[in-house]
Amino acid sequence: MLSVKDAETIIFNHVQPLNQEHDLEIVDLLTAFHRILATPVISSLDFPHWDNSAMDGFAVRYEDVQNSNAENPTILEIVEEIPAGYQPQNTIKKGQAARIFTGAIIPKGADTIVMQEKTKLQENQVFIFATPQPQEFIRHQGDFYQAGKELLPAGIPLNAAEIAILAAAQLSTISVFRRPRVAIFSSGDELVTPEQTLKPGQIVDSNQYALAALVKESGAEVLMLGIVKDNPTALTETINYAINNSDIVLSSGGVSVGDYDYIANILAYLGAEIHFRAVQMRPGKPLTFATFPNSLYFGLPGNPVSALVTFWRFVEPTIKKFSGINPGWEAKFLKVKSHSELKSNGKMETYIWGKLNLNDGIYEFQQTSGNLNSGNLINLSQTNALAILPVGKTLISPGEETLVLRIG
Ligand code: AMP
Ligand code: MG
Repeated sequence: MLSVKDAETIIFNHVQPLNQEHDLEIVDLLTAFHRILATPVISSLDFPHWDNSAMDGFAVRYEDVQNSNAENPTILEIVEEIPAGYQPQNTIKKGQAARIFTGAIIPKGADTIVMQEKTKLQENQVFIFATPQPQEFIRHQGDFYQAGKELLPAGIPLNAAEIAILAAAQLSTISVFRRPRVAIFSSGDELVTPEQTLKPGQIVDSNQYALAALVKESGAEVLMLGIVKDNPTALTETINYAINNSDIVLSSGGVSVGDYDYIANILAYLGAEIHFRAVQMRPGKPLTFATFPNSLYFGLPGNPVSALVTFWRFVEPTIKKFSGINPGWEAKFLKVKSHSELKSNGKMETYIWGKLNLNDGIYEFQQTSGNLNSGNLINLSQTNALAILPVGKTLISPGEETLVLRIG
């Protein structure tokens, strides 16, 4: 059976990220949060824009104050006061200083700031009681960034820091990738919506809601196509619509080997290239992956935990890679100590849901309580990690390290 690693390689090799020319959207600063920058940003401004003071104090010529001390202060004449936001009007000459405040422009002639704590002001004179370092407390033009260089690279998510940088560079029309479109439907004769009255044998289609939440969290747009009966005609119609109206299709259910599991046959009938129909993992074994010329198709298993585990392991990084994030779209694993005993049959790569707890600043994995059954959605609540036991590993003892995938 196909290993998780090989399945991942096959999937990611088929993900062609959004295009820098065709898949752009222009957003403003207030709607840019969490969007993905599509083109590199270059500014025509230096940062800082001009030499400015890092302190409240006095702008001086270093050579005037280089022998100052408490017994022998240098006395300078104050020729100007420069608050932040003002253009200095004078050049500082020998024996002169300017009163200056944090962020204000350094006047011509001055090359050093003496912080006000090392001075005494007396009418229009300042006493300098200590010798500063040459250039002290001056933030030079272009120290942080030089105009014309790359300010932000394409492919990064726009978080608070990046949005502040774009604002500071006066860039308020921002080119981002459009959101990927992900179609979701559920298949099964037994499924009903949360609003419908349950008849014997029926269960609520919870996968549609869980997957929609996760897709939105990944930054994509959701196209919810509802519940489709285990009926080849209805399934063919829905899948055909989905592949023509989205970038990625997620179905859940109907991919096992039961008599009513039609999805793989329909994918083949519609001309898909089916890459695999099973992965050596638990939960999640019946995962199906196929590609159409313009869309990727994930047939997720119907069991609620299997659907979500396969989403976290394969679909989330796929959406991120597709969305143009680069680098950083890959699934992220941590090595942590397990507080619980973790067991597997050793035949499948095994995913155990639980919680990362912080103990004295160190994460520890604790398996969820109750039954680890892929149909048991209840104890998935309040989990935030999946511990992973590789094939061949049957036991991880308390205190031993385990690999975990953070979820949610
Ligand atoms: P299947 O993969 O279609 O054989 O479904 C496996 C199990 O998952 C069955 O017990 C289904 O009832 C259940 N199941 C299938 N689809 C969903 C869904 N959308 N929401 C919740 N449970 C589901
Ligand atoms: Mg079914």
